[in-house]
Amino acid sequence: ASLDAIEARDEKVQAFLQVSSDLALAAAAETDRLRAAGEKLGPLAGVPVAFKDNMHLVGTRTTCASKMLENYESTFTATCVQRMLDAGATPMGKANMDEFAFGSSTESSAFHRTNNPWDTERVPGGSSGGSAAAVAAGEVTISLGSDTGGSIRQPASLCGVVGMKPTYGAVSRYGVVAFGSSLDQVGPFGRSVEDVALAMNALTAAGRDPYDSTSQPCAVDFLEHLEDPVEGMRVGVVPALMEAAGLTTEVRAAVEGAAKALENAGAELVEVDLPNIKSAIAAYYVIAPCEAFSNLARFDGVRYGYQEEGCLSLAEQTSKSRAHGFGEEAKRRQMLGAYLLSSGVYDKYYYPAQQVRTLITQDYKRAYEQCDVILMPASPRTAFKFGEMSDPTQMYASDMFTISNNIAGNGGISVPLGLGAESHLPVSVQLQGPAFSDRKLLRFARAVE
Ligand code: GLN
Repeated sequence: ASLDAIEARDEKVQAFLQVSSDLALAAAAETDRLRAAGEKLGPLAGVPVAFKDNMHLVGTRTTCASKMLENYESTFTATCVQRMLDAGATPMGKANMDEFAFGSSTESSAFHRTNNPWDTERVPGGSSGGSAAAVAAGEVTISLGSDTGGSIRQPASLCGVVGMKPTYGAVSRYGVVAFGSSLDQVGPFGRSVEDVALAMNALTAAGRDPYDSTSQPCAVDFLEHLEDPVEGMRVGVVPALMEAAGLTTEVRAAVEGAAKALENAGAELVEVDLPNIKSAIAAYYVIAPCEAFSNLARFDGVRYGYQEEGCLSLAEQTSKSRAHGFGEEAKRRQMLGAYLLSSGVYDKYYYPAQQVRTLITQDYKRAYEQCDVILMPASPRTAFKFGEMSDPTQMYASDMFTISNNIAGNGGISVPLGLGAESHLPVSVQLQGPAFSDRKLLRFARAVE
């Protein structure tokens, strides 16, 4: 059924870079065999799942939507992917993304754009735009994405699906191509909070992954307590954020509606202050490019991926392979990182950015002494048109509500709230929680969905 849905809809949506029909049919046959033999089936048996194309899966290419890795065959399978397969999931293929996960619209994919299923003249968000669109279009039930500054929560918001960035370290990143290693986190998309909780169980049940040194055990049953009332619990709201420039009235109204709904369910609303959040984007666009520059140095035109032919020296080969293998935004990030880490410069930008990071983390710590979760927008606006954000700094502002959470390493989830009164496109709300309170976050998400 999933292959049929992809066949019928993906020409229009273009969520996939590669459909792994052979792997899908083999997994489905194995599920049938187990069922016929009366053996125990996994919790995701037969569930069609798509993976962002920065996740390795043997039998597929892992391109990161870059010409640099256009023909790169996965030589091993990422832990997050393997755990979904171990739970019985059916791998449908690899989803489109911004090149190396740099972006908020999937427009920087080297191969093709992905269209928002609600309006194909609009972006699906990014960088995990293909993963969000595949779920929104009903091509798959669950997908995985990665979120360094908002890349799960923002596309989930623009496509009207649930998207969760778990706490940093909750899900293994082994086998996921690194962008900003101190910020990257893998998480699921689904059409309901319950589906996302199911995926979280599959991703974490086997405990910590020794192959990712930042991974921590968080094997709780995410379905347990999902339906528990939120009565008597405290929900933080940040008045200054609701006045943020760029936040549209319809998104603001949706977030206020969600706050009201939680209040009606017996939760208490408390005002909290996150004074340093206003510097989050500035700090992120120092830290993330520095880490990206370091991580992407491995693409040297020798060991991985695209290799320019006919060069007379190693330096020429590396230089030309990188010049022709990377797209514009990937180059911008790496040049920025190289500059920011150069001598005489890093103490002016990199150190202060790390200090801001500490301040933001402390802001959250103080806030969570007063509340269980914090409610805020996920995206300042609904899906925008292709080409509308032509200035990169305008695009960077798409993550004004998501980035601070990656900086602090906490969990966050975007929950769809129907269509906006003006745009008639999906609007959403974001819930954030302290580190390793992901189960509680799902319970609040369930209460507002
Ligand atoms: N939009 C942000 C960026 O371009 C975040 C991307 C992400 O989370 N991967 O860096």
